[in-house]
Amino acid sequence: MKDATKQTILETDPEVFGLVKSIIGNEGLHIIHHLLTVDKADEFEIAKSLKEDVNFVRSVMYKMYTHKLVSYTRRRDAEKGWYIYTWKLLPDRIYDRILNIKQKNMDRLYCQLEGEKNKEQGFHCKKCAIDLEFQKALELSFTCFACGGMLEPLNNNETIKKIDKDIDVLNNEIGLIRSKLNAQ
Ligand SMILES: [Zn+2]
Repeated sequence: MKDATKQTILETDPEVFGLVKSIIGNEGLHIIHHLLTVDKADEFEIAKSLKEDVNFVRSVMYKMYTHKLVSYTRRRDAEKGWYIYTWKLLPDRIYDRILNIKQKNMDRLYCQLEGEKNKEQGFHCKKCAIDLEFQKALELSFTCFACGGMLEPLNNNETIKKIDKDIDVLNNEIGLIRSKLNAQ
């Protein structure tokens, strides 16, 4: 079971890596990697295997715990009287968390899209690189106040196309995370 060379989602999944790193920083990543390879372990075992201080291991685990990404059981050491925590990583929670972040991004993209679609389009002088609101362009009879040239209507088709594309990409990513969640 203990196989230090075993690849884990921490190495194979950049999003899992990014999320975990954002929570615990670079310093604790090897602890998470270790925990993934052994499934669960008490903090003394982890500390011993990795030659780390047990307090450091515990602090990393607490950070993960505040984000509900690990679970623990504890037992009292009969001799010394203190508690020993056995930690277990919860990969499905990690994927769940990533899914949440992506869904929030998706909501934001839809808001942006809606905003762009409802935006009143102004006018533009290409030559002078001047943008004008519709009302102002109307007052000027759609001629540029600087060069006298015809103003052209602005459109945000490109922006809308880009948001649509971003939504597609995100949709695929969400589908992928969902399939990982189902595979857990
Ligand atoms: Zn002009």
